[in-house]
Amino acid sequence: MKALQYRRVGAAPEVVTVPDPVPGPGQVLLKVTAAGVCHSDIAVMSWPAEALPFRLPLTLGHEGAGTVAALGDGVTGVAVGDSVAVYGPWGCGVCAKCAQGKENYCLRAKQLGIAAPGLGAPGAIAEYLLVDDARHLLPLGDLDPVRSVPLTDAGLTPYHAIKLSLPKLVPGSTAVVIGAGGLGHVAIQLLRAMTAARVVALDVSEDKLALAREVGAHETVLSDANAAARVRELTGGLGAEAVFDFVGAAATAATAGAAVAVEGDVTIVGLGGGSLPVGFGTVPYDAAVRAPYWGSRVELIEVLDLARAGAVDVHVETYSLAEAPTAYERLHAGKITGRAVILP
Ligand code: NAD
Ligand code: ZN
Ligand code: ZN
Repeated sequence: MKALQYRRVGAAPEVVTVPDPVPGPGQVLLKVTAAGVCHSDIAVMSWPAEALPFRLPLTLGHEGAGTVAALGDGVTGVAVGDSVAVYGPWGCGVCAKCAQGKENYCLRAKQLGIAAPGLGAPGAIAEYLLVDDARHLLPLGDLDPVRSVPLTDAGLTPYHAIKLSLPKLVPGSTAVVIGAGGLGHVAIQLLRAMTAARVVALDVSEDKLALAREVGAHETVLSDANAAARVRELTGGLGAEAVFDFVGAAATAATAGAAVAVEGDVTIVGLGGGSLPVGFGTVPYDAAVRAPYWGSRVELIEVLDLARAGAVDVHVETYSLAEAPTAYERLHAGKITGRAVILP
């Protein structure tokens, strides 16, 4: 089959031919219908060899959807032909975190050598994807796989982040979204669907700010050195009850810290290498800073239910597998509006 692989540190990913995967006991083979392109892959491909936790070559793609093509021995709960989305942060399934559905925080994944597809295990930007267990598959039913596949990360990750701050996002509150890209433009819609907060979106690109308004942001602000002051102005000097940073660079983390309210939350989702030091006087009184990873299995069920209810509409640009390297180039250059989705 054809697959998009990251083969050499620092080199662009390439479409190559690899052996067709065969499901072993307990595994499920999917014919991939759609696979999303996440900025985290750009980060992974920028790491030097000594920082890379995965072996190369690596088939990319950690947002996957497909139809069940074949079942390994003993698999129950899914049938050939089912349209499914893949829950990506695979864990052991039995530790205390996994027992709560939080496989993203599995306590034993590292020790057992369990990795997410596209982030260690062969990923979804390929004709076929091997899924380690049927519990990692969620039925899509009538949902369009192309517009739904980004929900497995670009939806699930902001959903998890927002859920943690829900008690603070009461009527009259303000939520700031920094970076209205793949994750950010879904975050804006989730905030509108899940809270009564006023949503302020920040980005460096006017096109992305236009998308932010289109998907429900009440206010948009150019992300520059004055952005935090502008958020304070918009909130009568108080700041935002929650700031979600989908860039995570030094500059945006600083903006987040300067824009957050007393007792507010800063959530750093982006892998931009920035940080926000917390100590007395460095952030407003009792502000909390966290850096979550992806989301739980039950949260993905909830995100798909929100999509079924019509509350989220992912903006997608589609590419063939042969065009997948171009999708990555465009993402790197900041030229994707919404999410790039590969149709293998
Ligand atoms: P994306 O490229 O689609 O979106 C990034 C957006 O940020 C773009 O609209 C870009 O214009 C904007 N931007 C860039 N610099 C900015 C700045 N200084 N201020 C404001 N906006 C700026 O990326 P994505 O796929 O949505 O991913 C967003 C980030 O989240 C990436 O760093 C990615 O690695 C990370 N991520 C983290 C997790 C997690 O679990 N923590 C999961 C998925 C993605
Ligand atoms: Zn991702
Ligand atoms: Zn576990």
